[in-house]
Order: sequence, then C-alpha cells, then structure tokens
Amino acid sequence: MASLVARAKLLKNLRHFTTTTTRPLNSSTPSSSSSTSATAATAFSALNLAGAADTKIEPTITTTTTTTIPKSTSILDFDDLDKLFSSVSTSKLLRASANLYMASVEPIVDLGMWVMRSKLMEKQLVKDMVLGLIKRTFFEHFCAGENTVEAGNSALRLRDAGLRGMLDYALEFACDNESCDRNMEGFLTTIESTKSLPPSIVSFVVVKISAICPLRLLERVSDLLRWQHKNPSCSLPWKLNTFPIFSDSSPTYHTLTEPQPLTPEEERDLQLAHERLLTLCQECLEANLPLLVDAEHTAVQPAIDYLTYSSAIMYNKDNNPIVYGTLQAYLKDAGDRLFLATKAAEKMGVPLGVKLVRGAYMSSERELASSLGYESPIHNTIQDTHSSFNDCASFMLERLANGSDALVLATHNVQSGKLAAAKAHDLGIGRVNQKLEFAQLYGMADSLSYGLGNAGFQVSKYMPFGPIDVVMPYLLRRAEENRGMLSSSTLDRELMRKELKRRLIAAVL
Ligand SMILES: Cc1cc2nc3c(=O)[nH]c(=O)nc-3n(C[C@H](O)[C@H](O)[C@H](O)COP(=O)(O)OP(=O)(O)OC[C@H]3O[C@@H](n4cnc5c(N)ncnc54)[C@H](O)[C@@H]3O)c2cc1C
Repeated sequence: MASLVARAKLLKNLRHFTTTTTRPLNSSTPSSSSSTSATAATAFSALNLAGAADTKIEPTITTTTTTTIPKSTSILDFDDLDKLFSSVSTSKLLRASANLYMASVEPIVDLGMWVMRSKLMEKQLVKDMVLGLIKRTFFEHFCAGENTVEAGNSALRLRDAGLRGMLDYALEFACDNESCDRNMEGFLTTIESTKSLPPSIVSFVVVKISAICPLRLLERVSDLLRWQHKNPSCSLPWKLNTFPIFSDSSPTYHTLTEPQPLTPEEERDLQLAHERLLTLCQECLEANLPLLVDAEHTAVQPAIDYLTYSSAIMYNKDNNPIVYGTLQAYLKDAGDRLFLATKAAEKMGVPLGVKLVRGAYMSSERELASSLGYESPIHNTIQDTHSSFNDCASFMLERLANGSDALVLATHNVQSGKLAAAKAHDLGIGRVNQKLEFAQLYGMADSLSYGLGNAGFQVSKYMPFGPIDVVMPYLLRRAEENRGMLSSSTLDRELMRKELKRRLIAAVL
C-alpha cells in the first residue's frame, strides 16, 4: 500500500506542474490545458527548488501497474520483415546473426572473457591472434571503427537505413590532468571529423565527464555537493549556477561526514575540467552538433550533473539545447530529480536536453549501498524500473509537445519503444520534431531501430569507436549483456533468422 502511495505522489509530482496535464503513456485522451495552467502558475511560484515538500516521496518499495499498450503502438511494425530489413544486405544479415548468436552462447562468452583477462594475453602471439579474431567478429559488430575516419564511414553506411550516428570516442576514466588533456584531444578530433561528413549523418557527439575530469575530483565534488544538500548553510565558493542536482528522495549515504573543502589545487583542476567541457560545448555549437554527456555511477554523478547543468545554463539557448545530460531511470529518485531540473530550467528560460536510460551500473550500485548498510538507490524490481523509465519518457514527451526541452530515448526495450512511439504519435511528434531522438547501441536492437525509423521517428545508433585495446572494456560489457537466451538481442536474432529464411525461400522459388 505504501508503495502505491509513493508512486501516486511521484506521478502527481510529474504531472501536476506541467503547463498541460500529463497523459498517461497508454492514453491518447487529449488533456485540457486551460484549467491546469492557472494551477501550474500558482504551484510553480510556490515551488522550492532546493527540495520542496511537494517533491518529497518516502524511500519505499514502489510497485508498478501493468502497462497496457495502446492501439496506436501498431505504428511499429515488426511483422513485415521484408520492409524491416529492407536496407540490410543478406551478407550483413548473416554476419550480424552469427555474431549475436555467438554472443548468446554462454560457454563461448565465458571462454572469451577468461582468455581476455588471463596472463595468456601477455604473450604477443596470443594477443595478436585473439585481438585479430575479436576485430573481425565482436569489434566489427559492436564498434564503429578504430578511428574517426572509420567511424565516419560507419555512420555514412547507417544513412542507407535512415539512421544517424552518435559518435562516442570510447574512453575509460582519467586519473590526472595529463590524461584528461589527451582524452580532450580525442574528443576535439571527433567533433572536427564530423565537419567533413554530409550534414545530419552524425546526430550527437558523446562525452564521458570522467574522461576529462579526474575521477577522484569528481568524487570529492560530489561529496561536497551532497553535503551542501544535507546542510544548506555549507558554502561552496567555487560553485556556479546550476539546476537542482538532488531531490529530497536522493540518497546521501556516500557522504556520512563533513568533507574537507577543495584545496586551491583541486579548485584549479575543477576549473580546468569545466573549461574542457566548455571548449567542447563551443566546438559543438560551431559544428551545430549537440553534446551528449553520459551518466556514470552515483558516487560521481552529482559532480557530472553539476558540470553538465552549469554548462547547459551557458550554452542551451533559443530552444536549442547544445548540452544534454543523462538521467538513469533505474534510480529511485530519478522522477523527482527530472521534475526539479525541468522546473528550474523552465524558470531560467533554459531549454533542457535529456537522454533517458535505464542505467548500467546496477551491480556496483547495489554492492556499494549494501556494503555501507544502506538500501539500494536502484528500484527494487525491474518492473519499477520499467515504470520509472516509461513515466519519465511520458513526462518529457508532454513537454516536447508543448515546445519545451529535447529528449533522447536511449533504450533497447521494445515495450518502452512501442509505448513512447505511440505516445509521440498521439502527440503529433515525429520527424517534424527535431527534439526527439530514439537511440540504440551500435549492433544492438537493430530491429527496434529500423521499426522506429520506418514509423517516421529520428533514430540514432550510439557508435563507440577507438583502438581495439581501448574499447575492450566496452566490448566485454556488451558480451556480458548479450549472453544467455534472455538477453536483449533475442528478438533481433529471431527476426533476423526469420528474414534469412524468407530470403532463402524467395531465392529458391
Ligand atoms: C544509446 C544508449 C546510451 C546509453 N547511455 C548510458 C549512460 O550514459 N549511462 C548508463 O548508465 N547507461 C547507458 N546506457 C545503457 C542503459 O542504461 C541500459 O543498461 C541498457 O540500455 C539496457 O536498458 P534498456 O532500456 O535497453 O532496457 P532492457 O533491454 O529492458 O534492459 C533492462 C535492464 O535493466 C536492468 N535493470 C534496471 N533496473 C533493474 C532492477 N530494478 N532490477 C533488475 N534489473 C534491472 C537489467 O540489467 C536489465 O537487463 C545507454 C544505452 C543506450 C541504448
């Protein structure tokens, strides 16, 4: 019962203050805006953005209602396989099927991971053989190339399928300013490379803040921001204007005692990191290309949000967001934080760019919380995560329909894709609305990408690229995600197999 109350409160928060009432994702009934806008105006002026009582929900287990798919979800067609895979050659279909099949066979994945992490890789001959094999299989399937030229060519090939590319120079975190500067060069080269490509081939350039700001500093800044959230009198002299980073429902167990203030050296490093991000924003602005900031784990995410929001306040202008942050819907406080950020951005007249994901750091988040004796910040059930994702998507789609903000719906979940497509369709958001982009990882959920593209939506593939040894941690994560019969590539494999069979029969007859 408590869970239903909490959920009702969250939905009320998400719905109450929009300029029109938010329709549930599964409803196509138009809302009445006139009566609610007065309520919204009054309610908004009373809103305390630092953590209003309105946004408070008890930390409790949320359960979900079963979501019914509206009739209009039939706009995504997975039955007409000829149409779905019309842009994919038979040889590519065969290779993709084989790679996804291999990635689903657990003993193959286990063996591959064991070899990759073993001392065998220290022997040059073994290393060359293993990397050569991976390059022709998993790397080709899940990565866009080893450098910007190869990534650009892969993005060009996506155009045949009506898709665009998000270029992600796949770097892991940096520990010092030197590696941040080196990484920065890679990001700048990526933005520069898009200028030689035809317009609209690349939709976004991706950045990981932990690659341009030392990880330890992100932890320190997150600690201080969290402490200030708990103790509003705590002063942070270096802090710039930002949207709210926490809500009353945000966990604070990472910071149990008062952190030391930043040293002058740390303050200087923070400024350097911010300057790196602002340089990327400026380059993106000049290339007319939005910058997508990835979300990472909760120990550093407050600092990432802080840097993203403070840059967005400077660069997101005239209803044209240049900087997009990422919201992880698997976090229990995601809905509250989204609500507060949109309201603050609205008040400042800044368009908000949001990439919505479920979240990828589930095990480490749960382990950390449990090791400190706290409740996990992640929804207790997968159903709650699904509901959180769908509710946040619904809330943002309503805002888009009203002309505010911009949204990247990054998911492989077919149900979420169908629901959002139906809602967007009902709201009249399609190709004409440049503010909505669906996105899937390169080599993953291709049938969903084609289906959404065929239905008239803008769709991008998130394309990691870089030297094979640099992207290896990313490839290992993909192998992990695709293993087993219940992996997210199951639908793709099934549809590809059926299409190959159909083509074979058509060729024979
Ligand atoms: C374009 C793109 C960009 C991305 N960028 C980021 C990013 O910046 N940061 C980031 O963290 N992730 C990012 N991701 C990964 C994303 O967060 C997911 O890990 C991945 O996409 C799977 O979620 P899904 O929406 O595709 O849904 P599904 O295919 O349905 O996957 C659901 C997954 O959610 C997980 N899960 C979440 N909550 C629970 C729960 N309570 N109980 C059990 N399982 C749960 C499970 O592992 C499950 O496999 C990105 C994904 C895409 C497609």
